[in-house]
Order: sequence, then structure tokens, then C-alpha cells
Amino acid sequence: MSRKDLRSYQEALLAMVLCRAREYVKLYQDRLDPVFGRDGKIDFTRWTDIPVLTKEELIACGDDKFDNDLPDAQKPFEWSATSGTTGKPFLAAKTRSSLLMAACINERLIALGELDTRKPLATIRYSKDPELTFPDGKTTRGWSLHAPGALSHTLSQETSTDQQIDWLQHRKPAYLTAYPSVAAEIALVMGADARRLGIEAVLTFGEAVLDDQRMAITEYLGARVVDAYSAQETGYIALQCPVSGDYHTVSGAVHLEIADQDGKLVPAGTEGDILITPFHNAVMPLIRYRIGDRGVMAAGRCGCGRTSPRLRTIGGRSRDMFHYADGSHRFANIAMSDLQAAVPLLQYQLVQHQPTDVELRYVPDPARTGEPDLEALARIARRDLHESVVIRVKPVDAISRTVSGKFARTRRMF
Ligand SMILES: [Zn+2]
Repeated sequence: MSRKDLRSYQEALLAMVLCRAREYVKLYQDRLDPVFGRDGKIDFTRWTDIPVLTKEELIACGDDKFDNDLPDAQKPFEWSATSGTTGKPFLAAKTRSSLLMAACINERLIALGELDTRKPLATIRYSKDPELTFPDGKTTRGWSLHAPGALSHTLSQETSTDQQIDWLQHRKPAYLTAYPSVAAEIALVMGADARRLGIEAVLTFGEAVLDDQRMAITEYLGARVVDAYSAQETGYIALQCPVSGDYHTVSGAVHLEIADQDGKLVPAGTEGDILITPFHNAVMPLIRYRIGDRGVMAAGRCGCGRTSPRLRTIGGRSRDMFHYADGSHRFANIAMSDLQAAVPLLQYQLVQHQPTDVELRYVPDPARTGEPDLEALARIARRDLHESVVIRVKPVDAISRTVSGKFARTRRMF
């Protein structure tokens, strides 16, 4: 589909979302004024004048975010508490059509990852469902519309890595769906033995895949990474291309923009806030929703031949950028190998308490002895973070996760 065709296709879908939201959802009664003319027609050239919707606004508006006047077929089918990575969890609703859309995109992901849908899949996910507890978890059939008989095993993430490994050894799945941090931890703990699990591909979701996590999964598990970018309140957003590594947006399901702080679009190659407008979640329309991730759009055509717009990188959550004494802020990117050369660690998290004070919480590597090299660490801090920063070290038994079980490599506490 050409860019022009895609735009008119998306505008037709957006028009339906906007009209419905303006009429039936209190939150949008006024905020869509910039694009609506007196005659009720929509002027898409003024799209970026629609104010950006933040997660804080969405939480604060309570039930004013819902369309309560929907026909039965569109009524909420499933309620879920969204992840608490960027703040307190809140309730989001899904409709039959949004769930159907998710199932269709799931098939596309399966095709992209060249998965054999007859093989068993194991999923480790955050859940309080007592049916998913160790040692059995839950087994159902059919994880794809193509093979309704295939085994699908699920285990709660509220289990130790050793329990997860034990469970995987008994279930023997060909594929594993998990947060990248969970899969990487399994790979790291098992080391050279990880290949015995026989996992061919890991389908990652929920967190950005960090380079060292990807490496642990491919090297130790011997599995390829099939990554999807999604969020509970929006559904699928983009799927990773096996050819270029970029993320193709699911342009039949969401409109995606990269914008600056004022909601104006930034050009390809420039980092900005990711704004999402899903087309198929009528019960809780999200229009120019700032999801809390940063991204960079890729320019030109993808090597795979697909023409959908694509993200080159998806950054961590914007709240986890480090802020420094001179007013600058950026992501804390330190190579795992550099840190491991200075500190005998298996896992780590960088926590910024004050602009100049960063704590390195780490799980010591039992296979290595020796004290952290504080001088090397000081050099890394000056080079990779900021010249004013001092890193102090704190060994811990485990890195704690967020309320929804996500792992954050960096956290800012102020
Ligand atoms: Zn591609």
C-alpha cells in the first residue's frame, strides 16, 4: 500500500473513532475541537493540534474515558489492569472486535517468526490466577487460529527462575512467550545447559529487548527472538522485522506518531514520544495517547519490501531517563560487558537517587570472586552517564520488579 493510500485508509478509520468519541465520551467533548469544522467535517491537516493525551490524564478522568452508549456487540468483553511500569495501574477495557484484531495480528506475528503452529508453546506471564501456579501451571489447546489442537502451556511469572526451568524441562515447548528479562534470566542461569530445553524461538513482549538479553537468549538458549511491541491498553503496536530488525507498525490497527513535547511531529531519525491512536477499541478510545515510550522512525524502504511505517528503535520508558545537574537528560546506556568487567555481576539495575548519585544494584556472579573496581566504575560513570555522576555499588539477592512483574534496567527516583 502506498503512503497516500495508507493515509486515506487510516483517515477513514480515524474519522469513525473521532466522531464517536466526540459524541459519546466525556473526555473528548472539547479536545477534538481543532479538527472539527462548523459543518462537522474533519480537517486532518490540523490533526497535530489535538492535544496529546497522557496516562496521568487518563487515570485522573476516571469513568469519563469510557463510551457507555455502545451497541451490545461492542460492549466490553474483557477488563484488564494495565501494567504499572509508568505509574499506578488502571483498568482498561477490550471489546470483541479489539480481541479479534489481536488474534489476527498474532497470526501475522506467527508468520513473521516462521513458527510451526502445531508445535507446543509455553507462556510465562504475570498473573495472580491460582490455576497458573507451579508446578503444573495450566495447559490448554490452540495458540493459533491455524492449529486449534496444539498444546499451549502457561505458568505464572510469580515463580522462581529455577521453578520456571523445572517447568520448561517437563513441558518441552518449541516456543516460549515471556518478557525478555524473564527469558534472558532463564538463559543466564542455565548457561551452556540452556540448549537442552530445545526452545527454538522466544516470543518477547512487554519490555524493550536489551542487547545483552537478546544475546543471552540467542547464545545460551540457541533460540531466535521474535519481538512484538504492544501495550495492554492499546494492543499490538508494531512487530519486529526479521530482515531489518526494525519494527513495522500494525497500520491496520493503530495510527502511530513520533512527537515532541508539544505534540508536533518530529522527522524520521529524530527521537520523540510515541503517540498511539488505536482504531478498534471503541469502549475506551485513545486519541494521540502518549504511551510513555520513546521512539525513532526509520526512513526509506525496508529491506523486506514491506511498506508500512516502521520504528527503528523503541526506547525505554521516558520516566527512566536520567536527569543531570546541568538540566540535560538522556537514557543511561552502559554496555553490560563494560559493567561486568568492573563488577562481578550477573544482573544489575541502575537507580538514580539524585542528579549526581547513581546506585548500581547488582546480583553477584557466584562464579567470579573479587571486589568491584570502583575506579573503572568512576570512568564508566563519567563517560557513559555524566561527568558529575558517582556510581556506588550495592550487592543484592535479586533485582525487584515493578508491580506488574516487569524488569527495569534503569530507574529514576526523583
Ligand atoms: Zn521489514
